[in-house]
Amino acid sequence: MKRDRIKIDLVSIERNTRNQKYWIEEMTSRMRMINEDKEKKQRLEISECVLCYQPYGSGRQGGAACTSINCALCDEVITCGNTSIDILCLECAKHEKLCKHCGADVELKYRKSRKQPEFNSLNK
Ligand SMILES: [Zn+2]
Ligand SMILES: [Zn+2]
Repeated sequence: MKRDRIKIDLVSIERNTRNQKYWIEEMTSRMRMINEDKEKKQRLEISECVLCYQPYGSGRQGGAACTSINCALCDEVITCGNTSIDILCLECAKHEKLCKHCGADVELKYRKSRKQPEFNSLNK
């Protein structure tokens, strides 16, 4: 694919500079929210890590398609309005203290125990 030549003028420089500064502000703000983790209680209630938690700026946009997946641990069917779907049901995520969206430790702490999560541990 060959792209068309990009026009550079005072307007494009102004726009591009504004856009880049906007993204720096967005990233800085997101990093501050992740580090402060002021909504930790609410975040843990829905079992998401700081990076996946949407109020901290996670732009979890997926393709526009209703999607379903079986929970990685209990096989319960999870549905979502887009393709950025959770991989664990809330119950399994909470039981294993995992982020329901990405499957990392919900506190992003490495585990000392080498015990594997149990498939179907909740006997659903
Ligand atoms: Zn499950
Ligand atoms: Zn996560």
